[in-house]
Amino acid sequence: MRNGFLRTPFGPMYSEKTGTLQTFVRKARIAHKIILCFNHEWDTRYGENVSSTHDKIQIPSISSKNTIDVYNYSLNYVRDNKIKDLSDIVMVIDEAQFFDDEIIEFCREFKKYLEINVAFLDRNYLGQPFKFRDSQRNVSELIALADYRIRTTATCSKMQLQNGIFKPCGKAATLTQLEWPVDGPHSGKVILSEEEFGEYNKYIESVEKKKSGVGDSQIKVGARDYKVRCEDCFVHPPNTSKYSIEKFYQSL
Ligand SMILES: [Zn+2]
Repeated sequence: MRNGFLRTPFGPMYSEKTGTLQTFVRKARIAHKIILCFNHEWDTRYGENVSSTHDKIQIPSISSKNTIDVYNYSLNYVRDNKIKDLSDIVMVIDEAQFFDDEIIEFCREFKKYLEINVAFLDRNYLGQPFKFRDSQRNVSELIALADYRIRTTATCSKMQLQNGIFKPCGKAATLTQLEWPVDGPHSGKVILSEEEFGEYNKYIESVEKKKSGVGDSQIKVGARDYKVRCEDCFVHPPNTSKYSIEKFYQSL
């Protein structure tokens, strides 16, 4: 009998994706389930072998590099603990967008027999579906596979003049924008192309090298430059498509 399912909390940064996973972990603990948590090794913002919300609520989590690491750990765990019924296991994978695209096949197979909760950023800083590492495939395949989809939202922090006072926009944010650091070159300018992203990464790496003497991952050091935005406040890259709505208006 197939008891499994795939549940996917996805959304922008600061939208409680990890917090949502933790809720499922708490519920699984009440049901005396065996919980296997995985996070990507790139996410070391709050230390290794933890999955943490931005307000530092943490769950122990196995730091993994590739999908095969998740598979091998699970295989050894089930073998060593002589687990007969895979539906006793609840699996949690955080930051799935950083994994290789084999995570899609893994989820497709394992959701047949066990509960898998997988959280990820659904769109990148250009508003496009997030591609897996070194792959043209993206996280929308996980959304398509999911039995339960949860779109998590953050709160849009774009400052706006409202009745003479600057306030955050405050609408539900579904996107993550990347801006140059205010104390760097192009202060606060939105990054709207892969070329600009490359330039930004080089700058951040050089700053970090100066600071610590070693290189560091873009995710960790650049986190402060990511801003959550609602659909209205997000700045999209220039649209050259023949279906551009601006062109449509101009044709009227
Ligand atoms: Zn907004």
